[in-house]
Amino acid sequence: MVAEDENVSREMAQVVAKLQDAIGRENVKTSKMERLLYSHDLAPLPNLAQIAFKNIPDVVVRPHTTEDVVKIVKIAAEDKVPITPRGASTWGLGGSTPVFGGILIDMSGGMNKILEINKENLYVKAQAGCTWKEVYDACMEQGLLLGGYPSSFPSATLGGWISVNGVGVGSMKYGTSGDLVRNMEVVMPDGTVVQTGYDLIVDNETGYNLNRLIVGAEGTLAHICTVTFKLEPAPEVMRSLTYSFPTLKEAGKPLMEICRSRVRPLHIGFSDHNHFDLLRKAGRHTLPEGHNVLNIQLEGDKEIVAWEERKIDEIMAKYGGKKLPDEVAAHEWEERCYEYRCREIGIGSIPGEAVMPLNTFEETVDACYNLLKELKLTGAIIGSIVDRNTVMFMP
Ligand SMILES: Cc1cc2nc3c(=O)[nH]c(=O)nc-3n(C[C@H](O)[C@H](O)[C@H](O)COP(=O)(O)OP(=O)(O)OC[C@H]3O[C@@H](n4cnc5c(N)ncnc54)[C@H](O)[C@@H]3O)c2cc1C
Repeated sequence: MVAEDENVSREMAQVVAKLQDAIGRENVKTSKMERLLYSHDLAPLPNLAQIAFKNIPDVVVRPHTTEDVVKIVKIAAEDKVPITPRGASTWGLGGSTPVFGGILIDMSGGMNKILEINKENLYVKAQAGCTWKEVYDACMEQGLLLGGYPSSFPSATLGGWISVNGVGVGSMKYGTSGDLVRNMEVVMPDGTVVQTGYDLIVDNETGYNLNRLIVGAEGTLAHICTVTFKLEPAPEVMRSLTYSFPTLKEAGKPLMEICRSRVRPLHIGFSDHNHFDLLRKAGRHTLPEGHNVLNIQLEGDKEIVAWEERKIDEIMAKYGGKKLPDEVAAHEWEERCYEYRCREIGIGSIPGEAVMPLNTFEETVDACYNLLKELKLTGAIIGSIVDRNTVMFMP
């Protein structure tokens, strides 16, 4: 006999009861308010999407272990109910929003434990609902560096950034999210648990690479429960540098020269003067008018970082880049996680993304400004270097 719950449809009542038995009542949520909260991510969906799809889940579950996920997935498979994995929902493109209702698996609520930091074999193993910042900080405390993370790392989860094959801070030196992964424990749609690689070594076997299959799959192939990342020895020093140019376009040539030199920054980000104008309008402490900046983060041994800084200074001076004081550079580095503060001044913002070869930097800057003008939008250009030949624009 299934207890009546006014929030649960008749078809879903059996499923909810099975879920409650399997993982405990306290981890199964059916209240209308709770389900509504999980019907969108950080960006609201257009009204049409809400008519075409069933974005409100029928039930929200919070697993704590891989075994819990196995039970949930098996129930969903038996009863043919759709599942949507959800991290922190910061992607903004609706990936963690249900399309046909069903079961929403909230990973950030219960699967957020760091399981092991192994100094000898240089890896960290954590549940996929941990935030990148939690894992990064815990590794740093042990003298180890997690090479990359999204700039949303205070809230974004491990499983989320892996599932979108993300690029972020540190990608220039240590690769994109998938490059950091050694192994994952995933649950397949029939409830089978699979290890996609090895904790101790890189999976360099001939044949299909399961890590690569799951990275970027947006949760459509399997549910990621734990992740093992390779680690680096923590750097002796971190150094933030900021250089200002009269226009963003003028930063193109020095960027190219840095990327063709032996200098290997952890991260290079850029922001145009419009970005700072918008921040000022939002009442934020930021640069005065007219700055278009390159923010460069170095890390490593003291002497190497000092050599890299000298090389970068030379290149910047050659192209008219003005080095800004250390406090400005430190502030810009701190702000790397808050790229969208300018949303505070308007009804919303439309973030774009264009990944381009580096030698098109100048023409892409022109193209972005032309497009903003054509669309009569108030906008700014920010972005970062992905690798020595790839630049990501986020107008
Ligand atoms: C201020 C800001 C800065 C950002 N910076 C970056 C950046 O530098 N780089 C970048 O790439 N993105 C960035 N983003 C976008 C977004 O934050 C990242 O892609 C983030 O990693 C998504 O993680 P999440 O936990 O929020 O995932 P969600 O949005 O919850 O989910 C993303 C996708 O992953 C799936 N998923 C989540 N968890 C699992 C799991 N355990 N198993 C299987 N599938 C799963 C979901 O179903 C969905 O399809 C930024 C966003 C903001 C707001």
